[in-house]
Amino acid sequence: MGIATVNPATGETVKIFEPTTADEIEVKLALAETTFRQYRKISLEQRSQWLKAAADILERDQRKLGETMTLEMGKPIKSAIAEAKKCALVCRYYADNAAEFLKDVEAQTDASRSFVRYQPLGVILAVMPWNFPLWQVFRFAAPALMAGNVGILKHASNVPQCALAVEAILAEAGFPAGCFQTLLIGASQVESIINDPRVKAATLTGSESAGASLASAAGKQIKKTVLELGGSDPFIVLESADIEAAATTAVTARMLNNGQSCIAAKRFILAESIADQFQSLLVEKFKALKVGDPMNEDTDIGPLANASMLLELNQQVQETVTKGGTILLGGQVISDRPGYFYLPTILTDIPADSPGYYDEFFGPVALLFRVKDIDQAIELANDTIFGLGASAWTNEPAEQDRLIEDIEAGCVFINGMVKSDPRLPFGGIKRSGYGRELSIEGMQEFLNIKTVWIK
Ligand code: NAP
Repeated sequence: MGIATVNPATGETVKIFEPTTADEIEVKLALAETTFRQYRKISLEQRSQWLKAAADILERDQRKLGETMTLEMGKPIKSAIAEAKKCALVCRYYADNAAEFLKDVEAQTDASRSFVRYQPLGVILAVMPWNFPLWQVFRFAAPALMAGNVGILKHASNVPQCALAVEAILAEAGFPAGCFQTLLIGASQVESIINDPRVKAATLTGSESAGASLASAAGKQIKKTVLELGGSDPFIVLESADIEAAATTAVTARMLNNGQSCIAAKRFILAESIADQFQSLLVEKFKALKVGDPMNEDTDIGPLANASMLLELNQQVQETVTKGGTILLGGQVISDRPGYFYLPTILTDIPADSPGYYDEFFGPVALLFRVKDIDQAIELANDTIFGLGASAWTNEPAEQDRLIEDIEAGCVFINGMVKSDPRLPFGGIKRSGYGRELSIEGMQEFLNIKTVWIK
């Protein structure tokens, strides 16, 4: 389908976009580079004012931006509006904290004075996914722009209006033309952009295959990358947990964004003693969810983002069942309406040789596992190629310590769901990627950390 807005709630093609031509790409890259040379000299106070203006625009236009996201990728309108507001939050966070994050750090050495200075790298390429079409971009753009870098965005091909909206917001906020530009290009053109000497580094949020492809190309050019890839996060519930609270949070943690979140809870690992109780609560709460038009305020679950995601998810479910898994709820495409809808689904008895055990399920499907104790829970939680986040529920302090220490993931949340927050670093290990976004660590990824030594 090329670069287009296709409404996933109806399957209707709303608008097809002309890709950016080779000549236009050249003009934009040249502008990015010349802009960088001037922009890096602009004061932090000025950058901060522009970023705060962007936050104001995001809040002013939250409904319109929310509707654009919902139209292009199907997330319920309530969460789309919340996403626009969260983008304002990350802009204000970096506008307020960048001066502190970027100030020189003195070190005592054999020099009369030595210190570390933080400087921007230049033009940074951001390859972004459709699932949080504004948030993923702003969590890159806010620290990058505050640090004095400039950005080139290649957004997912199904969210061109969101991509153009981000560019327009930052331009209206006052950032000079060339600070942040969108290219409407396909995935196959990314390699030529990263090969361009004017581009100094890249960040990609998306699938493992896209990450591997970008990182290989960047590696050949000795350019740094940050990769935020897939996840199959465990949600562990042990005997001492508040089971009702865990089950309520489990629904939000699994169903956020119609189940299409990298940090969604995907594998529910339950202590045998509380598994029946948790399972019945989950079934009851999943049954109560309203699936429907994502533009309606009272919809909990909208469609998957496109036809191929729906097909893939259903194949994963069916193959898991063929191998011996049991469907407790759902397990099918909703076929009596247009669009890409899948029933809220719960699977159990999942064999180790089935997709339910080893794949990422990107949709409204919960995978339930039972374990006899915390050792088995940790072993199962870690038995995955991914290592993004983990949520673990227990009121025993010793168990909390074990889980924090032994779970292989970029973050562990105790008695709460995994979520991103500008004040805390975010990122994964293993095949979930490397590098961090958000907080001071996110800003440092695209800086020249320059050592200065004066005799
Ligand atoms: P995807 O296909 O990898 O797409 C993400 C972006 O990468 C899009 O802009 C896409 O462009 C581009 N792309 C695809 N193949 C590429 C290649 N070979 N080289 C360069 N760029 C390429 O990802 P998706 O399936 O849409 O998104 C879902 C995945 O993203 C899931 O695995 C999810 O867990 C992960 N994710 C991770 C995080 C995180 O923070 N860790 C956050 C959100 C999502 P086109 O659209 O033009 O193909």
